[in-house]
Amino acid sequence: MDLEVHLGIDDTDSMRGGCTTYVAALLVEEYSKLGVTWLDYPNLIRLNPNIPWKTRGNGAISLRLEIDRSMVDDLVDIALKVVERESMIGDDGVDPVLAVYVGGVSDELRRFAYIAETDVVDVGYALKLADSVGVKRWVFKDPRGIVGALAAIGEDLKGDHTYELIAYRTMGMIGNPRMIDVDSVKAMDEATKGETYANIDYETGRILITPRGSDPVLYGIRGETPEAVYRAHTIIRSYEEVERWVIFRSNQCTDAHLRVKRTISLLKPYVAAVSEGIVSGRPTIIAGGHVIFKLDDGTGIVDCAVYEPTGGLRSVVSKLMAGDRVRVYGGVKPFDGRLTFNVEKIEIVELTKIYRAMNPVCPSCGRRMKSMGSGKGFRCDRCGFRDSDNSKIEINIDRGLKPGLYMPPPRAYRHLTKPPERYGREKTGGIVWFHPWHKP
Ligand code: ATP
Repeated sequence: MDLEVHLGIDDTDSMRGGCTTYVAALLVEEYSKLGVTWLDYPNLIRLNPNIPWKTRGNGAISLRLEIDRSMVDDLVDIALKVVERESMIGDDGVDPVLAVYVGGVSDELRRFAYIAETDVVDVGYALKLADSVGVKRWVFKDPRGIVGALAAIGEDLKGDHTYELIAYRTMGMIGNPRMIDVDSVKAMDEATKGETYANIDYETGRILITPRGSDPVLYGIRGETPEAVYRAHTIIRSYEEVERWVIFRSNQCTDAHLRVKRTISLLKPYVAAVSEGIVSGRPTIIAGGHVIFKLDDGTGIVDCAVYEPTGGLRSVVSKLMAGDRVRVYGGVKPFDGRLTFNVEKIEIVELTKIYRAMNPVCPSCGRRMKSMGSGKGFRCDRCGFRDSDNSKIEINIDRGLKPGLYMPPPRAYRHLTKPPERYGREKTGGIVWFHPWHKP
């Protein structure tokens, strides 16, 4: 009898290298050879990006498939061997966990994933939940990876999702500069515009599909559909061998972390949040070019920081004034004994109006008149017109800023950041199968 099996894996990589998605790519090959029925593309699930103990992008993976009951042990054996071989087990902070769940994903697991995407999860709670829903686990060192492994199983992407095709390098190339034809990346970006995201940062000319670390990823192309990322992949010219590639389904580019509205009094370290309030005081620019402003929502006041890498977002924020109503999206970090809200994007809800008192304009010649002294009215220098009854008028000053959503440039996006092109294109579940989706 066939069983529905979900495998979640996390915490296999260290600062020196490795990549949890590569473990998934190897397992896709191994399991395909076993003849499993794939229920989904491998899922690449990004969790709360503000967790300080993440290695890089706080990613975990899950594989969902059907297989004969008699072969479940083989699946686990293969996964354990691959995880053991590919993880830098000896490194500090590398604590791989394999979690295996049989059956349909429950709402309880979905809820857990939601919390792991937006908040900080206690490892004890994750272990208890795993036991209560019957998730088996294999823990190599510290059990912390259970959080990611369980969340990767629970986030079955019934809501919005995107795809990423990841191409991997051969072992011998790891650590060397990535040899990708830059013009082919530009051609790919042009040919798949609106269907793939954040390939290039046009302000700086930086290619964003290639990571910079010593991991096995050659490039990753993110997009709306599996067809789009595959087509993009066929356009890229690489001067080094692609060892393998896989299309993942993912919560990347969906703002999955920015779904919880929190009042300022409820902010706590490392949560992701959306908070709304009134700007109090003028923004200040601190060393390093970061802009800081205070936000007050009646329950508390928090420092909001817009960091230098967010580029043009800082010039928008530096125009804010006391009284402006804004909604900030981002993560909370402790700093200097206080909390700081690190702003990823900002929505200006309402700008406070500022007025300047000015002399009236001469009704006869149109020139601005001069005061004849307090309470004595105004006189026009040009035509001599006098008006002893007139008084100063209030002019609404243009703020050079409009209400609306302001985003950083693509080079400052987080993995989960929803690019502006995706607004209004959010999906509601459903897997679209496209072949080929992996090689080998
Ligand atoms: P990479 O992106 O290269 O795969 P990473 O940034 O995902 O690396 P990990 O090595 O997976 O980093 O470390 C993240 C650790 O944090 C894991 O042990 C994971 O279980 C745990 N974790 C993830 N999200 C949360 C959360 N919301 N609360 C508590 N722990 C979490």
